Amino acid sequence: NFEFSERVGRVEPSATLAISNLASELEAQGEDVVDLSVGAPDFPTPENIVQAAKDAMDAGHTGYTSSNGIPELKEAIAEKLRGNGVSAEADEVIVTPGGKQALYETFQTLIDDGDEVVLLDPAWVSYEAMVKLAGGSLKRVDLAQHDFRLEPALDELADTVSDETKLLVVNSPSNPTGGVFSDEALEGVRDLAVEHDIAVISDEIYERITYDGFEHTSLGSLDGMEDRTITINGFSKAFSMTGWRLGYLHAPSDLIAQAGKLHSHSVSCAVNFVQHAGVEALSERTDDTVEEMREAFEGRRDMLVDLLAEHDVDVAVPKGAFYMMLPVDDDDQAWCEGAIQDAKVATVPGSAFNAPGYARISYAASEERLREAVERLAEHDYI
Ligand code: PLP
Repeated sequence: NFEFSERVGRVEPSATLAISNLASELEAQGEDVVDLSVGAPDFPTPENIVQAAKDAMDAGHTGYTSSNGIPELKEAIAEKLRGNGVSAEADEVIVTPGGKQALYETFQTLIDDGDEVVLLDPAWVSYEAMVKLAGGSLKRVDLAQHDFRLEPALDELADTVSDETKLLVVNSPSNPTGGVFSDEALEGVRDLAVEHDIAVISDEIYERITYDGFEHTSLGSLDGMEDRTITINGFSKAFSMTGWRLGYLHAPSDLIAQAGKLHSHSVSCAVNFVQHAGVEALSERTDDTVEEMREAFEGRRDMLVDLLAEHDVDVAVPKGAFYMMLPVDDDDQAWCEGAIQDAKVATVPGSAFNAPGYARISYAASEERLREAVERLAEHDYI
């Protein structure tokens, strides 16, 4: 009979769990479920990265590293960020076990009880949980009514933020919408952040997955953002390395000094040989494989948009990441539960992202499985 902390009571388990539990139960009963709920690329990790990890293990890179990461990787990350126009030095980087940990450390470092954090909805599930765990209070701006675009919502954002706002979270390309914010929108964010002296988290974990020739812009590269941006990134999505747990944060050195305390007292460091593999991942040798995966996602997106159009379903066409929001009934939870029970297609209810009335589809699945999913949803009258 434990007495649990008030803190842990503030959050619920990830809402996606209900669906994936149901999917596993059905599969255990021998059902064939098309699982479009997971946010993980379905490709193997590129071979050169796997080899680099093996070589690092063989070379004995199996002990603790310095807490913020091995110098080669921090330097490779800083160089990569400089390529994005962000002025970055190796000692302004903390290498973390996944982008999630980088975000967690950032919220814990910046947010006290009652501090105001602004999210752009639909927003990835864990931002809200992390803000609540840090004691922050949330304000939200809804992009769903604007086809998930930010420019048309800039006035609402301007009405929402104030000098009381401590932190704003921007995620482009976005999970769950696949939206990519235009430079104009990012400049609008910059103007408000400067005006009200707001720190901004820019979660750029899907930056390598953009379509239609769209180029990703790092928010931290904009004039006025250098001293107020925390750039989050990771290796899970671009390099299909979800299970390796490798990510990072970049921020001005005063923030790094504070977050580094949390880092050293919690995880100590990211896994040693995984960090060595990270150096290889960031090298040019991986570029072709990353491009092949990006092209595959773009082809799947096109196919899915066309298939849905054949059933008169219009979606906001994603410009990046590998998610799309499917408009469904108001009760999206019931729709998703029904779709998995009847059609054996697993998706995530939009409410999990504060976007009721939608289901999130991850198209990190083969074209064959995506076609199967659409057929089944149509057959059972879900679309
Ligand atoms: N940020 C966003 C928007 C994500 O979708 C995810 C993973 O789903 C993460 C961060 C964290 O990824 P990881 O911890 O695997 O690097």
